[in-house]
Amino acid sequence: MEERVDKEIQSMFDDIDDMVVDVISYEEIEELARGKPDPTPIVTGPSGLDLSGVVVGSAKPDILNEGLLGASRRIITRKPVFRYPVRERTVYPSSPSAVAPDGEIKGSCLRAAWYTAMSDRSQPRNRTAAGFWVTYLGDCVEAAVIAHARELGVVVPDSPGFPVYIPELGISGKIDLAFVDNGEVCIGEVKSTSQKNLPFILGYIPRGSYPCPQEKHLMQTMIYLWYFREQGVGRAHIAYVCRDTGADAEFIVRLVKCDDGNHRASVALIGRQSHVVQDITIESIMERYALLRGYIDRNECPPREFDLFYTEEEMDDLINVKKKWRKNSKIAKAWIERRKPALYYKCVWCNNVDECYKNDERFTPDVMREIEATISREDDRK
Ligand code: SF4
Repeated sequence: MEERVDKEIQSMFDDIDDMVVDVISYEEIEELARGKPDPTPIVTGPSGLDLSGVVVGSAKPDILNEGLLGASRRIITRKPVFRYPVRERTVYPSSPSAVAPDGEIKGSCLRAAWYTAMSDRSQPRNRTAAGFWVTYLGDCVEAAVIAHARELGVVVPDSPGFPVYIPELGISGKIDLAFVDNGEVCIGEVKSTSQKNLPFILGYIPRGSYPCPQEKHLMQTMIYLWYFREQGVGRAHIAYVCRDTGADAEFIVRLVKCDDGNHRASVALIGRQSHVVQDITIESIMERYALLRGYIDRNECPPREFDLFYTEEEMDDLINVKKKWRKNSKIAKAWIERRKPALYYKCVWCNNVDECYKNDERFTPDVMREIEATISREDDRK
């Protein structure tokens, strides 16, 4: 055994033993350089930092006290500055929802969509600096993919997105790009995600599931496929690029009529087997939009569809799933170690959580702090 190890160690040095090295002294180097001209500098001018011609102003105290990022953070979170532009009573295809056969609400809460539609002022765009950077990087990634598609001959409108308006439901939105393939009109949506989120999209988590776009992206695409089917739109592409690692995934989505008469999405990663997503039907999505429209027209706030905290039963389910992933998640940890109910992620990420829970005694300053902290740390909601 020892002999074998010795041989292995020796073999590591074989290459070095074989090398023929010319050893050269400093004196010899100086001798070689003697009489040769000095290397020509690439840039000419005074040596050192040249600030001549630069208008040097004095930094505001923000920068002096908090540093560049501290000052930036302050600007980003100053709510009146960064806001989503919203049109009153407009419903967006990006906030779809459906009811699964077991009663679970897929996608957005009706109440959250109602708050956005009824808002007579724009919503704060970012609660935290981290959220701002995630949005900004996501926008950059999406713009780059769309620019490359244009180079490949894909139709990309000059202004961002093809405007979409569905008067029956008051839905308005935009489609990123479109192209024609073998006579079939195809539409494309580009989404940014994160490496942390990619295993869910690719179906590695939960184990045994299949690759599928995020529910809200899938439902949004289903709406477009449904409404523009008579204009020859038969296929949609949803392209994901990770804004942190550059990894990507692309899905092809079609609408199919199932035996129960409802229309569902058939999804496939490019080049892979397709699956029909059973839990979501276009009929249910449309029903929910019609319901929302009713609440909007009556000026009536819908009841909450989610609760701020996971129930005990939901926590048990989650822990079981987490155990299967062999990961000690934050939620499982909070529940197991402290027996503390964890905040429900959809409410944590909801822009309207303050308004929705303002009269609920459980919405304490501690809970608000926990929400802010979660949003700052976890950045894969886009
Ligand atoms: S906080 Fe939760 S229940 Fe309230 S509107 Fe948002 S998602 Fe719905």
